[in-house]
Amino acid sequence: MNTPNTTKQTQTDKAKHTPGPWELMPHMTSGWQDLNEIQSETGEYIVRVRNEANARLIASAPELLEALKEAKEALLNLSPEARERGHYGDFKNDDCPCTICKIDKAIGDA
Ligand SMILES: [Zn+2]
Repeated sequence: MNTPNTTKQTQTDKAKHTPGPWELMPHMTSGWQDLNEIQSETGEYIVRVRNEANARLIASAPELLEALKEAKEALLNLSPEARERGHYGDFKNDDCPCTICKIDKAIGDA
């Protein structure tokens, strides 16, 4: 008899991106370029970028993703109507300016 997956296993199976945390490894030289490499905590290569501020932002992506998911849940918990509709406002569309829709757009299928 199979045992059902735990919630954590299910979330891991759904993840399309390399699990966080990601770490910034600044000033790695590649050829003539001084680059900022981002790696997973297991050392898996994510990306190299020149601009260190951009690298820091990319490296924080897993934490930002989790924070946005938590913020969305907190916003939905403020209003039963919002929870029922999945956002604030009367009509949900790609241009909806509510924060929940902005979060949905930002995180996509992540
Ligand atoms: Zn909305």
